[in-house]
Amino acid sequence: MKLMQEISTTVKKRRRKENMWITKIVELTDKLKKLEEASLKKELELRVCAKLIQVLHVTGIVWECSNCHRTFTLYNPQQEAYNYCPVCGAKFKEYIYLEDD
Ligand SMILES: [Zn+2]
Repeated sequence: MKLMQEISTTVKKRRRKENMWITKIVELTDKLKKLEEASLKKELELRVCAKLIQVLHVTGIVWECSNCHRTFTLYNPQQEAYNYCPVCGAKFKEYIYLEDD
């Protein structure tokens, strides 16, 4: 009987320890997730902002990224949520149409 009690106590202690570790792992995973989110947010905020400018090209009207100066053939980038330059990654803050200037 005494042996059974000892075994039971040992098992309970071990379970408590395991639960403690599981709690710690969950807490650390949460912290890591928050850190990753914060760093991603910072990265997005630090992203270069550019203008997408409509220009007249020999092939017709194209859009030019004010950061890397690459041109793209697009129909309506603002409406199509074309928010970032696919070449340099700059965020388009402004869309300037030919007839605007
Ligand atoms: Zn660009």
